[in-house]
Amino acid sequence: MDRKEFLLSMAGLPFIASAAKESSLMNVFSQKKLSDAKMPVLFIGHGSPMNAIEENDFTNTLKSLGKALSTPNAIVVVSAHWLTRGTYVHTAEKPRMIYDMGGFPDELYQVNYPAPGSPTDAQKIIQQVKSTSVLSDTSWGFDHGMWSIMRHLFPNADIPVFQLSIDYGKSPAYHLQIAEELKFLRSNGVLVIGSGNITHNLRNFDLSDINAKPADWALAFDEKIRNWMDTGNHLAISEYQKLGQLANLAHPEPSHFLPLFYTLGLRDEKDQLNYPYDKFQYGTFSMRCVKIG
Ligand code: ZN
Repeated sequence: MDRKEFLLSMAGLPFIASAAKESSLMNVFSQKKLSDAKMPVLFIGHGSPMNAIEENDFTNTLKSLGKALSTPNAIVVVSAHWLTRGTYVHTAEKPRMIYDMGGFPDELYQVNYPAPGSPTDAQKIIQQVKSTSVLSDTSWGFDHGMWSIMRHLFPNADIPVFQLSIDYGKSPAYHLQIAEELKFLRSNGVLVIGSGNITHNLRNFDLSDINAKPADWALAFDEKIRNWMDTGNHLAISEYQKLGQLANLAHPEPSHFLPLFYTLGLRDEKDQLNYPYDKFQYGTFSMRCVKIG
């Protein structure tokens, strides 16, 4: 992703810128079973859109993670690339593909993720969230923050998926509150996925080396956030800007950090939290993924 991609991602109207190895029997069981237990919650660090079409240890981790989950009834993705004024939920039956990035190989613009939407679940969000008026939208669809990870997590694209936008002008506390009101989704078998990055700085990074040594500031910020997640200190995470220059380096603008609050806000006290992936790409992207429950 580059600066041009970011600008493009902000351009949509009407938005501001818009174990062991499981036995084959267990595999059959888990893949066929529609979830009737409380769903986990995920945060996925998506990094470069190229992860959509590349195979590396990050994308292989997503494939394994998707296979290990019981099949959700539906999935809602909160992507760093759907930034709006106000909070919107996509209610179309068949969401369109959005190629909201520039300067990448043609192959990336041919990726298709033909999953159906889930207007019924989207409407439940409109009804259940009380702290703000969540509005219905039919103009967005699936942006690369969604499809670049979903084609690895759920390659069959046969589970209904829809996106919830991020009100870009609002504080982390606002996003945590909405997430709190989305807890009902977990008991309805709906998987909530935040898609962003725990560090995301598009300045001065080298796209030629995916395995570049992580910058000191990226390691330091990622470590701080991990410690606060380990201890459940969501308040400190929501006040990350108190970290000053470290926060400015990790997030010159907050689009990729805000999805994390939609994951953390759905955490219950008894939930376990772990990190299916915790490495870096291109020296400035923490690709850390979080699984709650
Ligand atoms: Zn992104």
